[in-house]
Parts: sequence; structure tokens; C-alpha cells
Amino acid sequence: MKVLAVLYPDPAGGYPPQYARDSIPVIDRYPNGQTTPTPSGLDFTPGELLGSVSGELGLRGFLEAAGHKLVVTSDKDREGSDFDRELASADVVISQPFWPAYLTRERIEAAPNLRLAITAGIGSDHVDLDAAIEHGITVAEVTFSNSISVAEHTVMMILALVRDYLPQWQVVKDGGWDIADVVSRSYDLEGMHVGAFGAGRIGTAVLRRLKPFDVHLHYTDKHRLPPEVEAELGVEWHETVQDMVPQCDVVTIHAPLHHETEGLFDEALLGTMRRGAYLVDTARGKICDRDAVVRALESGQLAGYAGDVWFPQPAPPDHPWRTMPHHGMTPHTSGTSLSAQARYAAGTREILECFLEGRPIRDEYLIVDGGALAGAGAHSYTAGGR
Ligand code: NAD
Repeated sequence: MKVLAVLYPDPAGGYPPQYARDSIPVIDRYPNGQTTPTPSGLDFTPGELLGSVSGELGLRGFLEAAGHKLVVTSDKDREGSDFDRELASADVVISQPFWPAYLTRERIEAAPNLRLAITAGIGSDHVDLDAAIEHGITVAEVTFSNSISVAEHTVMMILALVRDYLPQWQVVKDGGWDIADVVSRSYDLEGMHVGAFGAGRIGTAVLRRLKPFDVHLHYTDKHRLPPEVEAELGVEWHETVQDMVPQCDVVTIHAPLHHETEGLFDEALLGTMRRGAYLVDTARGKICDRDAVVRALESGQLAGYAGDVWFPQPAPPDHPWRTMPHHGMTPHTSGTSLSAQARYAAGTREILECFLEGRPIRDEYLIVDGGALAGAGAHSYTAGGR
């Protein structure tokens, strides 16, 4: 079998980087009791950089020992890229959402051997799921592998926006002490109304982490949380996002990108938010209307916007979200901490072992299988319409 992995480029300073820490904590189970990945072995030390080209997701030893071929590249977008060339004879494609190899319908149709597309991470919208369904391609992701990573990043961004942390940090870097200037947009989160659009693995983890801040919690999701979880979190459910956002000071987005969510946070919806609300999106960039976000920040309708998800990725140097006012954007990093990489690299190997040995892939890892949405995909995505 030929396995094609499209990974982000190595660090500019060379590979491997100098690590800040010697180890990472061992995590055996996720908050819902699901076990972390269980491959037959690992050819890497957890905590190493695995998501870049030289890291190879730690897969080469295992794949080559079993007689398979691994091709790794970061060259994915230009005309005649390595990705396009190698895809023509690939059986399996692995891609990370941070450096997405966009598996469009045209590419799927140009890949006659393709049977499996693995998302090393979570979020498979870079694959045309309708085309995968039609062509009998299995799409799998490493469910839960980086959910807590993203939840932590989200809480960091909410606090950074409300307290206006980044300009204060900049004053220090610049040698200044301009307190009046930088506290003019700084507030406490305590007492604010915070709403999650989507309360699955990440959204619920964000709500749970915010509860001790003594905020009022809200959410909307097409699947309502169990009553005991609503009671534990003290969170108010809203039937629609339109009902929820006017009641919130902070809105955080945690639903997947599909035809129901694409462009949902447009001029009209942003216009119903409280003046000076904050919006954080660590789900997918296309859920927000790019230019409407810029205008809302310029007019003061939004006091701040942060997130780590863009379209396209990598974002071009002139993407307006790089320079819009009051933003706290990062590149797509929240789900690819070294801690997360250890889990999703192990999960990628688990999925490959199952596929190559003809064993079933865990149901919770499946997005598309057998010509239909399956597993986690059937719960969270809607087919068609895009
Ligand atoms: P999940 O499947 O556990 O939860 C998604 C929730 O969204 C589900 O509860 C689902 O019912 C809800 N939902 C879907 N469509 C909806 C709609 N139209 N209206 C209301 N609710 C809707 O997924 P998760 O693990 O929490 O991840 C959520 C998303 O976060 C992923 O799909 C991915 O796009 C993104 N993500 C980003 C990163 C990152 O690095 N920034 C990492 C992991 C995941």
C-alpha cells in the first residue's frame, strides 16, 4: 500500500527543535471515559514534534516494516504539487487540519486507488465528504485527540480578548508603561454571559473550564446535553444560534464546518450581538464571514475576535484577519501542541493498523464509511448541500 502524508514544513531552525520540556503527562482516558489511542506500539517519544515533514507522524518504521510505502510532503497547493502527483497512486492519504490537503471532488476523482483518508487531528471538512461517500472512501479522524488542547486555547483567547492582554504585552515589549491607554479596553470576565455554538467534546470542555469564572453559561446544539450535565454546568440551552447570541457578551464556536454552518456568522447574525461582544472561533474559519468580521471590528460591533482557524490555510500574507483591529488570532495551532501530536499520531497509527489488517476502525473515529456518514460523522455532520 502507498500511504501519502501531507504535513506542515519543519521548523525554520531545523529538525528536531530544542524541546522546552523533557516529558509530557501520560493520559490514558478522555473525560467521557474513552481510551486514548491503542496502537500495537510507538516509534516515537511522546512530546516530540511529529506533525512536520521530518516528524512523519512517527509512522515510517512501522509502515516500512510491514512492507508499505510512506511518502511525506508539505507541497500541497501549487499547480503540479507533490500532493497532486503522489495522490494519483495513493491508497491512503493522511492530512492534518493545520496544513490541510484539500481533498476536493476533482482530486478524489483523480485518485483511483484511494480507499482511506485519515485526519490526524479532528475536523474532516478539508475532504469533500459527499465525494468520499459517492466513491466509497472511508474518512476517519482521531476523535478527542486534541479536544482538550483546543478547549484550553479557547479559554486563553476569551480571557486575552476580554482583558485585552495582547496590547498590554506589547507595551512591555516596547519599553513603555502606558497604563491608561491599555486599560481603556480591559474588563473582567466575571459576570459576563458566555455562549457556545456547538457543545460536543470541545464546546462542553470549554463550558466546564469557564464555570469557575462565575460567568452565566449558554449553549446551542442540535443535540441537547443530558439534563444532569446542564445542571452540573448551570448552562442554559437555546434552540437556535439566533436566540442565543443576542444574550451573550462572549460567543465561542465549536461546531464542525458543513453546509448548515458555513458562513453562519454573517453581517446579519453579527448585527444581533451585543455591541462590544467578543467572538472566538477555534472550529473552522469559514463558519464566519471573513469581511463581515472585519467590518464588525472596525465599527465596534465586536470588541474583539480571536481564533486559530482561517480559510485558506496557510492564510495568505494579505489575509485581512492578520491586520484587522482588536484581534487575537494565532495560526492553526490549538490542536497541534506537542501533547496533542503524541495522541493523534498514535491514533493515526491505530487507524492504519486496523485498516491494513482488515480490522474495524473504532466507530467513534469514523466520519464516512460504507458510502454514508458514520460514527462521529453521523452525529456531527450533515451530508449534501455544499
Ligand atoms: P464534536 O463532534 O464532539 O462536537 C460538535 C458539535 O457540534 C456536536 O455536538 C454537534 O451536534 C454540533 N453541531 C453540528 N452542527 C450543528 C448545527 N448546525 N447547529 C448546532 N450544533 C451543531 O466535535 P468536537 O471534537 O467538539 O470538534 C468540533 C469542531 O472543532 C471540529 O469539527 C473541528 O472543525 C474543530 N476543531 C478544531 C481544532 C483546532 O485545532 N482548532 C481541533 C479539533 C477540532
